[in-house]
Amino acid sequence: MHDMTRRNSFDVEAARARCRQYRSRILDISQQVGALHIGSAYSCTEMVDSIYHGLMRRNPDGSSPDTFLMSKGHGCMILYVILEDMGVLSREDLDLYCKPNGRLGCHPDYGNPGIEASTGALGHGLSMAVGMALAERGRKTDGVIYTVLSDGEVQEGSTWEAVLMGSSLGASNLVAFVDNNDFQSLGRTSETHPSFYPLVEKFEAFGWETAEVDGHDAGAVVAAVSGRSGRRPFMLVGKTVKGKGISYMENVPIWHYRSPNRAEYEQGKRELEDAAAS
Ligand SMILES: [Mg+2]
Repeated sequence: MHDMTRRNSFDVEAARARCRQYRSRILDISQQVGALHIGSAYSCTEMVDSIYHGLMRRNPDGSSPDTFLMSKGHGCMILYVILEDMGVLSREDLDLYCKPNGRLGCHPDYGNPGIEASTGALGHGLSMAVGMALAERGRKTDGVIYTVLSDGEVQEGSTWEAVLMGSSLGASNLVAFVDNNDFQSLGRTSETHPSFYPLVEKFEAFGWETAEVDGHDAGAVVAAVSGRSGRRPFMLVGKTVKGKGISYMENVPIWHYRSPNRAEYEQGKRELEDAAAS
């Protein structure tokens, strides 16, 4: 019997506290490697938290009938810290993040605990998620597949093949999110690809059910997905801020690549502590 009560008892204040803690933990592990995607992890923090703590069902043994796939693999630090919090990954795993003797790399690798697919070659995740959703239906289970894409990734032609096939093949147990931070690497998506927006209407034209919410509002994310009809694949476009949560990172694209120096690290920790106190 799956615990369906989790979705109805989502605690927004608890989610805020968790997300601050996750951002703080990401800052800690960011000190171990010179180049990484901290801004990309921060922009989807609330959406990935909402999936794990508000949407995916849990069996009493901790397993889930549902599956999460981090299509924007470069944002994987948020996935790692959530899996650590859930006890799926160990503290040692994260302490060895991106170190030669560690098993967690800068992109997710299939075979590590809680990692359902190797991602980070962008544009493949939605196709895998469509296949996983159809496999669940073929096995006559009620498993739901969740995945998070970046807006840069949505530019890939393979993503649009998956959008077409997801609705054409009736993958109604598929819920995808776009982390719409209007950056792809170092450029504004709206400037590099002026035809990218409007976005929601494009998914609707392909036959998807959609919602558009503030991607940092965990309550709105959970409510929008919980209200889906389940008759068609669902796409939530979440408006987000790259680097959300640390003042000097927000909408500053270099944080796609840099890791904080010591002074920046300490300022970031202070800001997260101040946010917790206020
Ligand atoms: Mg982006």
